Amino acid sequence: MAKVKAQTPAYGVSENAEWPDTKTFTVECECTSQDHAINTHIEIDADKEFDQLEVTHWVEMYTPAHNVSRWKVIWSLLWKGYHTEQHSIMLTRQAAKNWISAVDAAIDHLEEKK
Ligand SMILES: [Zn+2]
Repeated sequence: MAKVKAQTPAYGVSENAEWPDTKTFTVECECTSQDHAINTHIEIDADKEFDQLEVTHWVEMYTPAHNVSRWKVIWSLLWKGYHTEQHSIMLTRQAAKNWISAVDAAIDHLEEKK
């Protein structure tokens, strides 16, 4: 199988906004549902004492309306104080490569501004 290289423009990844210390982009799910897309923020120098990036993913989480799991969520929040959910996204190899490339480019771009 041929090795996949990052593309420009990047299939499956769109850049949304840029601020001096932050870049944001969206990773689209192959099924095309916007509910499955991951909106990612990469912030450099979130904490000036450490040489780290802060990567935040914004995703929509759903609990099926006519399902007992909604009660499990309520029970978990009530007795444990937290609830854990999982989000999956389907990517082609090309889109995954482009996502990694977008993160890599964001790091390079933000470091140039330091
Ligand atoms: Zn999907």
